[in-house]
Amino acid sequence: MKVSVFGIGYVGLVQAAVMAEFGHEVCCIDVDRDKIAALERGQIPIYEPGLEPMVTQNHAAGRLHFSTDAQQGVEHGQVIFIAVGTPPDEDGSADLKYVLAVASTIAQHMNAAKVVVNKSTVPVGTADKVRAQIGKVLQQRDSELDFQVVSNPEFLKEGAAISDCMRPDRIVIGSDNPDAIATMRELYEPFNRQQDRTVVMDVRSAELTKYAANCMLATKISFMNEMANLAEKLGADIESVRRGIGSDPRIGYHFIYPGCGYGGSCFPKDVQALIQAADHIEHSATILKAVEQVNEQQKSVLFRNLMHHFDGDLAGKTICLWGLAFKPNTDDMREAPSRVLMQALWQAGAKVQAYDPEAMEETQRIFGQRDDLALMGTKEAALRGADALVICTEWQAFRAPDFDLIRQELHHPVIVDGRNLYDPARLAQKGFSYYGIGRGMSI
Ligand code: NAD
Repeated sequence: MKVSVFGIGYVGLVQAAVMAEFGHEVCCIDVDRDKIAALERGQIPIYEPGLEPMVTQNHAAGRLHFSTDAQQGVEHGQVIFIAVGTPPDEDGSADLKYVLAVASTIAQHMNAAKVVVNKSTVPVGTADKVRAQIGKVLQQRDSELDFQVVSNPEFLKEGAAISDCMRPDRIVIGSDNPDAIATMRELYEPFNRQQDRTVVMDVRSAELTKYAANCMLATKISFMNEMANLAEKLGADIESVRRGIGSDPRIGYHFIYPGCGYGGSCFPKDVQALIQAADHIEHSATILKAVEQVNEQQKSVLFRNLMHHFDGDLAGKTICLWGLAFKPNTDDMREAPSRVLMQALWQAGAKVQAYDPEAMEETQRIFGQRDDLALMGTKEAALRGADALVICTEWQAFRAPDFDLIRQELHHPVIVDGRNLYDPARLAQKGFSYYGIGRGMSI
């Protein structure tokens, strides 16, 4: 099928590459000229395992095109995906200006019937707004071309985006139009060979499904962080508690890891957006407000532990950070807990010496050159002469380090572990002061 994707970010590029891999002819449109030019040259703007070969091979095979020419994109696609960002507005609600801009563009250039698919995460009622926007512009053009607006939210996880997209748990299609549903089924047929994973529903339910999924996941994290904070104060070990509850199949082991707070481009913004959407209809989203509040507090737990260890004085100290990205296998720094920690450390007069396998270029881009930030080429180099080690992201490379070397390189044998990677008893035996999350040892 001929498909176009507007917005070539994490979601748009992965979706486009995977659709091309399955044989569709995909035209990718973005307003960012540099990004499109880089993609044309075979440079992938984001780090995502498996993405680069898939993009370059399908580009070379002529199934994946990149352009800034919106008209070309609209004319190409029988199905047109909107995969642009929906950042938080000033009050936290989802800002739809990019989505509606693409809707106008589609209406300006369309010359045949189209199925417009909203893949961005958008509040309930957005499909109606997209439909109205397209209708308005078509009316200005005196055109009566047929179009359908479908909701098809994306559930991929950064770091595993390709496999999630190729083998999705479910494909949610929100529409009440049989022709549009048939087109979407045809598009996704190659994804469904093993088992049909399509869940068809009305548009508003599809829109809410995406928020419900992310809010449920964020709730699990904040719940576990709350339990960890209780465990800390009660002298219990949250890791034992985690194993103890995860064995109950009604609870399960997934997504119940305590840590230094959730980040990324989705959970914080989607929780906030649903709180705002609920407020607009005069419903106070009590649970979600608590989820957000717990997360805000949790993002400062690493700093609090450092302050506690160094008796409230971090001025002149150098802190080594292992991991900067908001989670492993991505270079995404959006809302990463490491950012909150770095800002707090700088404010307290400390220096940061950091290593991340993929996110250092992005960190440099965000913070620029500064005397109190040194990005090091290896995790060992980041330790050298530092006063403490902090684990912010659970990359595989940090799971089994050489603790003797860490002791040797650090001024003080202090590890603040925001991801509970290490065994507190073993580290105590090796002479470290070890602060995990909810392990009954820190503050
Ligand atoms: P992103 O910021 O990485 O990419 C968005 C892209 O859209 C940018 O390249 C931008 O230049 C482009 N763009 C903006 N206006 C445009 C226009 N008028 N025409 C063409 N391109 C335009 O965003 P993302 O992380 O891919 O997220 C996109 C949407 O998908 C958001 O609503 C997000 O909530 C949702 N989502 C994201 C993830 C994720 O893990 N990142 C997962 C599921 C859903």
